[in-house]
Amino acid sequence: MLDRLCATVPDYPQPGVSFKDLTPVFADAGALRAVVDAVIEPFAGTFDLVAGVEARGFLLAGAAAYATGTGMLTVRKAGKLPRTVYAEDYALEYGTATLEVHTTDIPAGARVLILDDVLATGGTVGAAARLVERCGARVAGVGVVLELEGLGGRGALAGRHVHSLQRIP
Ligand code: IMP
Repeated sequence: MLDRLCATVPDYPQPGVSFKDLTPVFADAGALRAVVDAVIEPFAGTFDLVAGVEARGFLLAGAAAYATGTGMLTVRKAGKLPRTVYAEDYALEYGTATLEVHTTDIPAGARVLILDDVLATGGTVGAAARLVERCGARVAGVGVVLELEGLGGRGALAGRHVHSLQRIP
């Protein structure tokens, strides 16, 4: 299903990058349900809150939170949240960025499952995990649809429970 629906866009957003586009997966009712169910499956019963990383992680996290009866946290890019935030800088596959969460949105001690569409270098999810921990919460695990193995994200997240639906060499 991922092979059929996921599009690969060469040289996007810059030359040399082979971009995996999951929008057709999200647009397909059966695929969306299957992907959300499979991403959270190994973490059943181990989390109280689902964190989605802006922007495509929001799609997965919203659906996962609804399906499991948990809350959902938005981990946002810099400058989008209106109240006091924690901020973590990270390096992207292409560029650098900052992620933020409100300091008071995660209950201390909560077990937080972090979801995103693609794991590449692990910088993004690593920053999200540090934010969760700065709030006094625990990272229950990391779920992604695609893992770009060559970029070393799993190694960068050593010690964390990382689950991907498909590893792309
Ligand atoms: P990382 O921080 O290097 O692991 O990059 C992961 C982040 O960049 C995620 O938030 C992804 O949404 C985005 N990303 C990196 N590569 C791709 C891709 O090929 N397709 C879609 N998103 C990507």
